[in-house]
Amino acid sequence: MTESRLSPRIAAIAPSATLKVDGKAKALKAEGRPVISYAAGEPDFATPQHVIDAAVEAVQDPKNHKYTANTGLPELRDAIAAKTRRDSGLDVPASRIIVTNGGKQAVFEAIQAVVGDGDEVLLPTPAWTSYTEMIKIAGGSTIEVFAGADQEYKVTPEQLEAAITPSTKAILFVSPSNPTGAVYSPEETRAIGEWIDSKGIFVIADEIYQNLVYDGVKAVSIVDAVPTLDNKCILVNGVAKSFAMTGWRVGWMVAPADVIAGAANLQSHLTSNVNNVAQRAALAALTGPMEPIEEFRKAFDRRRKLMVKELSEVPGFKVPTPQGAFYVYADVTELLGREWGGVKIDTSLDLADYILDKAEVAIVPGEAFGPSGYVRLSYALGDEQLVEGVRRIKALFTE
Ligand code: GLU
Repeated sequence: MTESRLSPRIAAIAPSATLKVDGKAKALKAEGRPVISYAAGEPDFATPQHVIDAAVEAVQDPKNHKYTANTGLPELRDAIAAKTRRDSGLDVPASRIIVTNGGKQAVFEAIQAVVGDGDEVLLPTPAWTSYTEMIKIAGGSTIEVFAGADQEYKVTPEQLEAAITPSTKAILFVSPSNPTGAVYSPEETRAIGEWIDSKGIFVIADEIYQNLVYDGVKAVSIVDAVPTLDNKCILVNGVAKSFAMTGWRVGWMVAPADVIAGAANLQSHLTSNVNNVAQRAALAALTGPMEPIEEFRKAFDRRRKLMVKELSEVPGFKVPTPQGAFYVYADVTELLGREWGGVKIDTSLDLADYILDKAEVAIVPGEAFGPSGYVRLSYALGDEQLVEGVRRIKALFTE
């Protein structure tokens, strides 16, 4: 391999695996191929009309054409504080909030703010593809702690205890989880929260799927379960997933004052304020009627059941029932290490390529999130497509 002329830090970054698979699927579709994509973690619904109306009104107002405070519009930070109080059980002033370009920038800034050269970050896996790369960019390294389907993809304090070292600076806690859809129970959340508290490390809690839960479960915030974590806890959230606003790019971070100050300095050199029109839209989302959101959640719940039922009928797919987000994470180890249709399939990466090639169905291989042996399917697509895609996969593996 020729040596890169880029900086070592940038040369070492892998592209986002989720965006890569999604891009490939979209490109094939654009060529006219009948691809069905379970790749993107993106609701297929349009943004609610009252949010769009607020944005249209905002764009007409010259005050929104100007720079504003880089930490976000005061009204939006107040609305985020109210949401955080309601859903995460944390009472914070708006000064402990920064509005970011999507939840992704909030995660990035949180990691940049607390992780430095030589620091380790505990990452329960399977985990979203970008955390590891972001940790790397900050000069840190990731200690993966894996939980398989046998433990419902949820780690225990004992596993974390076995992995922590004196260099551990922080842990990622994500419930509901992307990619598994697992939701930690209040007791499990408390046990992990108490363990974190006893270690004095930071916890970055990614709560972007907080409102997408099913079967009557509640995703309890780790800081709600263990309030003494407040000074070590960074919450990340956004409007993308629950309000069908992925393209608007509005997220936020709720954190101790020094972390917010650091993130605000970073953001002041990076992107300044988030697009004001998008912030006004997010304000309308957070303060407006919640019925459309509940409709989305109900639709996801219905598709979740359909997806689990259909996919469980595919030979070799073990499918635990997820209780949150909009993903199923199937264990496909049974299908590996053998030939299918004349092609040797050793890893879930091979399997995903094979499925895209032969059935024109895009799924994300487990390698994007942790060990091989799993595949992630997003069920944020229409019922008909959802059933047809699984039918095509099933045809490939029925002997
Ligand atoms: N978070 C979503 C996913 O996991 C969107 C793509 C991305 O940003 O990774 O698919």
